[in-house]
Amino acid sequence: MSEFLTIDTGASLPKTPDITPLPVYDENHAMLRQKIPEHKGPIPSPLISNLVARLKMTLKLYGAIGLSANQCGVFERVFVIGTDQFQISCINPKIIRSSAQLIKGDEGCLTFPGLYVKLERPDWVEVEFTDDTGKLVQMRLEGLTARCFQHELDHMNGIRFIDGIKPLALQVAKKKQQKIIKQAIRKKKKK
Ligand SMILES: [Zn+2]
Repeated sequence: MSEFLTIDTGASLPKTPDITPLPVYDENHAMLRQKIPEHKGPIPSPLISNLVARLKMTLKLYGAIGLSANQCGVFERVFVIGTDQFQISCINPKIIRSSAQLIKGDEGCLTFPGLYVKLERPDWVEVEFTDDTGKLVQMRLEGLTARCFQHELDHMNGIRFIDGIKPLALQVAKKKQQKIIKQAIRKKKKK
């Protein structure tokens, strides 16, 4: 979470194959509360390749570890997770099995800059998805990667990470968020 987000209201995939970052919409965008249906088209395809490339670029730009298409106003069941060294694209992602043991951890979201909450989630998950080359992938994820996959899968189902948080805990997190935003603005002015 390195930069602050600008709110763009005109997102659409360009007709040219240019790879440019996507806008990240704010928390009130209607698409963040919609369940995104399965992608039925062929993979690989120019649409999926372009979308995945742009999601990866946007992820890198913000120094984030996960980004869903609907955070960028694109109505496709697609997300990317990973870091600079290792990124995976997940189309029609699913959780097949998950650990009974839940683990609490801090979570943030590009849609909510500076907001962090503690969330309980299964420790590990076995997942299935199609990658952008059309390969069906099954893998077991643990730790932060497992958390990230679950967070992005929630986006695909119209669930925002704050939706299950108790009002008081959310209030505290939002106060801290204001401080973080102020600090970031001060830092930016100094540059
Ligand atoms: Zn998110």
